[in-house]
This record gives sequence, C-alpha cells and structure tokens, in this order.
Amino acid sequence: MATHDTPAADERPDRDDDPAADPRADYDYVGGGVADAELVGDLRDRIDGEVRFDSYSRQLYATDASAYEVTPIGVVLPASTADVAAVVEYCADREIPVLPRGGGTSLAGQAVNEAVVLDFTTHMGELVEVDPDDRRARMQAGAVLAELNDELAPHGLKFAPDPAAGNRSTVGGAIGNNSTGAHSLKYGKTDAYVESCEVVLADGTVTTFGEVSLDELRARADPAAEDLQARIYAEVARIVDEEAEAVRDVYPQLKRNVSGYNLDRLIAEAEDGSVNLARLLAGSEGTLGIVTEATVSLEPVPETKAVALLTYPDLLDAMADVDDIVRDHDPAAVEAIDDVLLDLARDTEEFADVVGMLPSGTETALLVEFYAEDDAHGREQVADLLDDRVGDRAFDALEAHDADERAQLWKLRKSGMPILLSRTSDAKHISFIEDTAVPTENLADYVAEFQRVLEDNDTFASFYAHAGPGCMHMRPLVDTKSPAGVNQMESISDAVTDLVVEYGGSVSGEHGDGRARTQWNRKLYGDHVWGVFRDLKTAFDPDWLLNPGQVCGDVDMTENLRFDPDYEFEAGFDPALDWANENGFQGMAELCHGCGGCRGEQETTGGVMCPTYRAADEESLSTRGRANMLRQAMSGDLDQDSTDTEFVAEVMDLCIGCKGCKRDCPSEVDMAKLKAEVEHAHHEEHGADLRERLFSEVDRLNAVGSALAPLSNWAEKLPGARTLLEKTVGIARERELPTFHRESFVDWFEARGGPRVSAADAVRKVALFPDAYTNYNHPEAGKAAVRVLEAAGVRVRIPADVTSTGRPAHSKGFLDKSRERAAQNVDALAPKVEDGWEVVLVEPSDAVMLQSDYLDLLGETTDAERVARNTYGVLEYLDRFDLTDAVAFDAPDESVTYHGHCHQKATKKDHHAAAVLDAAGYEVDPLDSGCCGMAGSFGYEAEHYSMSRAIGEILFEQVEASDGDVVVAPGASCRTQLGDRDGDAPEPPHPIEKVADAAGR
Ligand SMILES: Cc1cc2nc3c(=O)[nH]c(=O)nc-3n(C[C@H](O)[C@H](O)[C@H](O)COP(=O)(O)OP(=O)(O)OC[C@H]3O[C@@H](n4cnc5c(N)ncnc54)[C@H](O)[C@@H]3O)c2cc1C
Ligand code: SF4
Ligand code: SF4
Repeated sequence: MATHDTPAADERPDRDDDPAADPRADYDYVGGGVADAELVGDLRDRIDGEVRFDSYSRQLYATDASAYEVTPIGVVLPASTADVAAVVEYCADREIPVLPRGGGTSLAGQAVNEAVVLDFTTHMGELVEVDPDDRRARMQAGAVLAELNDELAPHGLKFAPDPAAGNRSTVGGAIGNNSTGAHSLKYGKTDAYVESCEVVLADGTVTTFGEVSLDELRARADPAAEDLQARIYAEVARIVDEEAEAVRDVYPQLKRNVSGYNLDRLIAEAEDGSVNLARLLAGSEGTLGIVTEATVSLEPVPETKAVALLTYPDLLDAMADVDDIVRDHDPAAVEAIDDVLLDLARDTEEFADVVGMLPSGTETALLVEFYAEDDAHGREQVADLLDDRVGDRAFDALEAHDADERAQLWKLRKSGMPILLSRTSDAKHISFIEDTAVPTENLADYVAEFQRVLEDNDTFASFYAHAGPGCMHMRPLVDTKSPAGVNQMESISDAVTDLVVEYGGSVSGEHGDGRARTQWNRKLYGDHVWGVFRDLKTAFDPDWLLNPGQVCGDVDMTENLRFDPDYEFEAGFDPALDWANENGFQGMAELCHGCGGCRGEQETTGGVMCPTYRAADEESLSTRGRANMLRQAMSGDLDQDSTDTEFVAEVMDLCIGCKGCKRDCPSEVDMAKLKAEVEHAHHEEHGADLRERLFSEVDRLNAVGSALAPLSNWAEKLPGARTLLEKTVGIARERELPTFHRESFVDWFEARGGPRVSAADAVRKVALFPDAYTNYNHPEAGKAAVRVLEAAGVRVRIPADVTSTGRPAHSKGFLDKSRERAAQNVDALAPKVEDGWEVVLVEPSDAVMLQSDYLDLLGETTDAERVARNTYGVLEYLDRFDLTDAVAFDAPDESVTYHGHCHQKATKKDHHAAAVLDAAGYEVDPLDSGCCGMAGSFGYEAEHYSMSRAIGEILFEQVEASDGDVVVAPGASCRTQLGDRDGDAPEPPHPIEKVADAAGR
C-alpha cells in the first residue's frame, strides 16, 4: 500500500533490484500511523537514506533477541556517514535519544530503546577495502560478519571473532557488544582486532578513533573545551592517570568479560604508553559513540582442524576437567553439551543418530577442537588429549578428522538448542543470566552453586557452550507473564551475581549488559568504578542520548519485558486449524524468540528460511518481522487488527508459505500455517476477490483447461492476451500460463490398460494420487513415475474417488475448501491404506498436503494419521524402501543439478531425491537452495512478480554456479520459474523423468 507518508520506491536510495520498486507492487514495507510528522520531514530534508516512523517500522524494531520490547521513536536507514551525523546532530539539538543497530541479535535488550533507531544493515554494509599484505580490512558498520568472511576467504583471511549469530550480525554490533565466539581461546574478543573506527560523536561530530600515545592524548585533552572530542580525551586521560588501580582491583582476571566499559583493556594498553579509543568503544553498546566504519586486523584461516569429543558421567566432572584441558593442550575451542540437551536431541529424528554414537553412560560431553597445520598434526593433538584425559574424569571419547565428521560433532553441540527454544508454553528458556563467566579453575564449584540457585528458585536450565573460557550458557525456564516469574528472574540474577563475584567472574562473558544486566554492574564493580563508568559516559555523551540507560544507566531488568504480567493476547478470530501440538494458536504466535536466524543470506546460511528477506533485505520480510507484527497486532501493541486488509497485504501476503521457517528456525516458527489462519479469517471478514477465488480453484480450472486443449493453450498466445489477463485478473504479463494436455495422465493410464504388475508379482502396492499439476499439466512426470515404480515391481493403481488435494485453496487461506477436499480424500484413501496400499504423489507440495497439512485441517484423527503415515513423494518412496535396487539402470553419462521443493525440505524428506538419482547412475549436485519464488500462484500475481523474480534470481545464481549438465526439480512451480529464467532456458524435467530415462523406460 504505497499510500502512506513514505517516499515512493523510486524516491528511495538505490537498492539493486528492490522488488517494491516495480510499479505494480502493492507494498512498500511500511504501514500507516506515522508518528512525529514534523520530525520525519526534518530528517528527510537532511539525509539521503530512509526515514520510517510508521507504526509497522516502529514495532519491527521494538524487539531484538532478548526478553525485552521497547517501541522506538522511529527508524532511519542511513545511506552514509553524513546521514548518521545529520541525524545525530539534529537529535542532539532536540534531546532525542538515538540507538545504533545492526542485526538486532542482542540477547540482553541493548538493541531496543525509546530512541531513533539507526539501522546500518540496509544501506551501510559494504566491505570498503582489503589489504591482504597488511592483513587489514575496512568496512561499513552494517557489514555482516559471515558475508565479510566470504569476501575475505579468497585471501585466506578472516575476521576472527566468531559469534554464533555471525551470519546475520554486523561489525558495528560486534564492536558494540565486543563479541566473540566458540574460538575465543585462540582469538579473544572483537576489541583485539579493532584498529580504528570512524565515529559519529553524540553532538554529530565525525571523527576517527585509533591508537594515540599518552602524550598526544594528554596534549589534546581539555575538560573545559567546547570541542566534545577534547573533553573525551580529557576524561580518558584522567581515568588512565587516576583510576588505574581502582580498575585493576575490581575487574575480574578473565578473557571473557564484556560487562561494563572496556576499562581493563584501556589501563593495560596505557602501560605501554598508548591507548586505542576505538577499542574503548568495544562493548559500549552504542552508548559512547556511533561507529560508521571500522578498520580491523585479520587472521589467517587455519589449514585444518581436528575434533575430539570427551564423554563424562556427570556435568560437574566435565566442568572440573576444563582447566587441565585448556592449560595443557592449547585447544581452539572447548564446548560443553549437558544431559538436558543430549536428552532433548536423543528424542528427535534429526539428531537421534548423532546422539546414538555416544558411548552409553554419557551425561555430558566436551567438544575439543584443535587448529592444525595438517592432518597428522591434528591427529597428534587429539591423541595427546585422549592419552591424558580418557580414563581420568572422561571415560571415553570420539574423534573426528575429516570435515564431515567434524561437522557431525559440531551439529551435536548445537542439536538440543532448537528444542529448548521451541517451548510454546508461557514459561520459556529466556536469556538474562545466560552468559556468566568464571575462571575455569572455579567452573565446577560455580556450576554446582548455580544449580542450587536454580533449585532454590524452582526451575532448571541446560548448561552448555563455551566451557573453555569459563563462559557457560544457561537459560532458566521462567514465565515472565506471571508476577512470580518476574520475581524469580530477578532473584536468580541477584543470587548469581553474588556467585559470580565470589568466584572472580563476570555477569556477562559474551552477550553484554543491556537491560538484563546493567543493574548488576554496580554490584560487580562496586560504587567507585560504577561512578567512573558514569563519568566516562557523560564525557562522551553529555546529555545521555546515545542508547540511554544501558551499561551504567538506570534500566531495570524487570521492566519492558516482551511478556509481562500485563500482557494480553486476543487473536480476534477462532482459529480454523488444529493447534493442539503448538499449545494453541497463541503458542505459535508467541514462539519467535528474535534470534534473527531468518535474516541470513543464502550464500552464508543456506537452507530455505527466509526467501523474501533474502530477496529484499527488509526486516518486515523476515520471519521475525512477520512473527513480531502478528503477535503485536494480537497483543494490542500495533494499533491494527491482523485481519485488516492493509496488514494482510503488507505483512502476511508477502510470506510465500514455503515452510522454510518450520524447518530452519530454531524455534520452528510455522509462518505458513499462521498465514493460512490469518488469510482465512480475512476472507471470512472481508470476502475474497475474483483472482483469489480463481487461484484457490486452480486445480479444478486445470481440468477445464485440459478439456479445452489445445484451444486453451492458443488463447493465451493471442496478441494482447497476457496484457489483458494482467489488467483483468492481475496475472503478471511476463508469465506464460501452464500448458494443458488434452490427454491427462489419468486418461493415459486408463488407455494403457491400468496396472502392468500383477497382484501376485507385486513387491508393494501404490495408489498413485493424480495431483492436478501432474494430471493436466505435466503428465510426462506421472508416466515416468508409473514406469519406474513398475520397473521396481510395484503394482500401481490410480485411485478414482479422490479429488484434488486442496493445496491451492489451502495456500490462499480458503481453509473450509481445503478441509472439504482433505476429508473427501482421506475418506477415499483410508480404506485403501487399511488394505495395504501406499499413497504416492509426484508433486511434492501435494504430497506434503496429505502428509502434514491434512492433520492441521482434520485434527489427528485415526484415518488422517493413517493416510499421512502411509503417504510418500515418489522419490521418497523409491529411496525409503530401496526400490531402485530392483531396477536395471543404463549408467547414464550425465550429471544433474538438483533443486528440491521447499515443502519437502520443510518436512525433511528432500534428501531422498538425490539418493535415487545417484542410484540411477547420475552424478548429482544437490543445491542447498531455498524456495524458487513461484510458491504456487504467488509468482503469477502481477503485484508479486518482482518479488517472485528476485527470489528466483538467488536460485538462478546457484544453478549457474553448478556444473550439472541438466537441472531437475520435482516441483511444477519450480520448473516454471527455472524455465522462465532467461529467454530460452528449457523448462527442466521432474527428476523421476531422468530416473525413468536411466531405466530405459
Ligand atoms: C542465537 C544467538 C547466538 C549468539 N551467539 C553469540 C556468540 O557466540 N558470541 C557473542 O559475542 N554474541 C552472540 N550473540 C549475541 C549477538 O549476536 C552478538 O553480540 C552480535 O555480534 C551482535 O551483532 P548485531 O549486529 O546483531 O548487533 P545489535 O544486536 O544490532 O547491536 C548490538 C549492540 O551494538 C550496538 N551497535 C550496533 N551497531 C553499532 C554501531 N554502528 N555503532 C555503535 N554501536 C553499535 C547496539 O546499539 C547494541 O547495543 C548471539 C545471539 C544469538 C541470538
Ligand atoms: S522466526 Fe525463528 S529464526 Fe527468525 S528470529 Fe524468530 S526464532 Fe529466530
Ligand atoms: S513460510 Fe517461507 S516466506 Fe513465509 S516466513 Fe517462513 S520462510 Fe519466510
């Protein structure tokens, strides 16, 4: 809806291929309710970037990955340092707070504030220059770490700190939080790599901070100067001269401490006669200055690695072993996985195998990684470790040397987390004391006491992650919707802070202070150093306008919680689907925890989630954006109902329902299912337009098209026909409609005389469901399926009494229609399944409809479940029952590039296709691709064509980069999109057709 007080797409700063720039696009990423129109006008006059003060944008930036929510004043997407300076100067004059923000992946609430948010990720994310000889690089603050490392890889270099969320977090955020990751034993924190920064100070002055000698610092210092920088230098010089002892006295002796300001580093540097003010900004959480560009030093990428997994009968035994391992073996990482995570992982289909590899009796494991010059060196280090530790506290070990084996063990380390974070209850594993650190010699005692604190507070947590540097992660289960839960949270923090002080540790060893931990800094450092923090803050930011309240301010950990005792939720409609497994619709609507995993790009993150974000780099187009907006609409934070036409068009409609989030999101947020509910409720309330009704019946229209073929195919080719279609029903003129076949797949099957494998000879019996695409548009795929199945000795019938699966109606939110079809099909198929027939489909999205969506529509009734359990995609079926063993293949001399369907990926069934193609003798390159962007009818819709195409481009690039001779894709829509990729690319075949070719069928 490009009707708000927002610049039209063509007035916004250039962004390559912004899908919203298509004049037909009916979205602009923003909503109504523009706050502070005067402020907006003034800012727009001053900058080239974007100014968004509409209600959607403000709510989109109200959360990060923490338990907090604060609606900002507005959002600015600056395009340059000059923009940042202009905004800060303007805000300083009017005492308006400002908050710099990167990926918004902070876990303590330091990326949300009542401020003007500066989001650096949209227009200020470039790598500016690399000097490989000097091992340095300069980049803008919004550069994403993983993307940066991709660009540095050809030089054999990397930005070394590796926070786990590095595929969506930025250099500015890494400096803001002084981030580090699993390999901090080797690399330390971000501050060690910051050489200099271009910084916008609190009054809008642009300066560069880097190394200065103490003499120069003192020479430039003037506490009474007009010039803000001179006053900053004066305060820093004062701290160096007068506070060194106080700082040394209270700072813990830890590699991992990011609480408070980085004064210990400042004092340590000063001992050598100079200090680096850019490094003082590290860990300042946007409260001292705003980084616009940074020059960082780089590290070589290690030649190779080796991993050992030491297994322990008990968490505390493992904790007690860490100090010796670190001291005697020089590992790059030591990561803990406790019994809570192992138990959770053991119960999942995905991780059961990996957990099954562990020796019995394993209650905790320590993953120890070594960097090595070559394989022999890696093996030697692992052997030394095992010689030393196994038989002492560790009772056994696994080792991994090649890349795949190592990846398996790292996967195990991360395996339980998604389950921990997918609790749909009001009580959640939230972050508030999740990254405390203590010296490793105290780790076992500290963890034991921590467990007692949790017991005293009637809750529990898992203990995992960075044991090597003493920084364990724990997220106690707490319900902040209840006053008791809020008290519990504060009481745990208070007691844990006492423990941390007692054991010489820090309240934050990794994620920073923010809203969760700022209040504990006073206890950690004492009143005097707390006062030094405040003086430093005042020197940098006299009016406390930069991210106010954090680090040494007055934020209270129990205020501004996302879910608090006053929180209310009202969906505004009665859900039409079954949400029993999700603890109700509300359970799913509140599930996103904000980690930003849906903001990772295809090249760095892989998987499917989230294609629309990847196409447009807009927060509103990420799963997180949608989940936040939906929850906020339903909890009253957004002054709009989720069924309002604008909300549906701008927020929900652009979700292409690929189910990528259901698979790739660690909390398994199922936005496609949420979207179906909202669109259904919208139809109920407002009715549906002609095109929506047409597309919801496209399966039935295919039957008409097929009956009228070839006339129906010619009609579309008449001059002006496509333009007319766009004008009348909104079908994009660039798209050719699918070809209809006069002889449908069912006609063909009947004409050839039904099954060719007799009941007596059959190894299995298949009811081959004639989905609409296969039946009317792609009968060749159905024929190939029959031939291959029969070659494998399977008796194939086509069930006569079924109707179309209802997928188009379901995707468009016509849930009564899709339920009706589901009921008819289940009634028809359940007796056949009872009779030993298995249901197989050629079109993946239709297969998944029966396997999964029917359960949402019908509830988990016996019949629906039985049908779901016995339904397969054709390639899944061939692979699962090893049916290709019985087929004689011709060993084709051809390689294939395989693009799987996103719905099959979501249901974790996609790997079967590559296995079958491989068995048929093809060399297969299975792409780690996302959604093709067609998403059923989405790509045909004129207003969505540009978005569909932008998503498609990501896939096209992958296809271009693959050296397969031919592309194959099981999804009919994917084949259309791939066929449209340039003027003459042929529409690729379904992989079953290649399998049939190889079988000579
Ligand atoms: C699943 C998960 C795993 C994580 N794992 C790790 C980990 O292993 N190690 C780790 O250290 N952290 C980790 N984090 C926390 C977080 O991801 C990191 O601290 C990350 O580096 C923050 O980057 P960001 O771009 O998201 O910053 P944001 O969250 O956007 O901002 C972080 C802070 O920096 C400030 N800031 C942002 N940009 C600027 C700028 N240009 N100038 C000045 N200040 C700025 C912000 O105001 C804010 O206070 C994790 C988070 C999640 C959700
Ligand atoms: S949708 Fe999932 S991946 Fe995205 S922020 Fe929420 S929890 Fe993280
Ligand atoms: S269903 Fe697909 S498009 Fe929609 S939010 Fe999930 S990943 Fe993104």
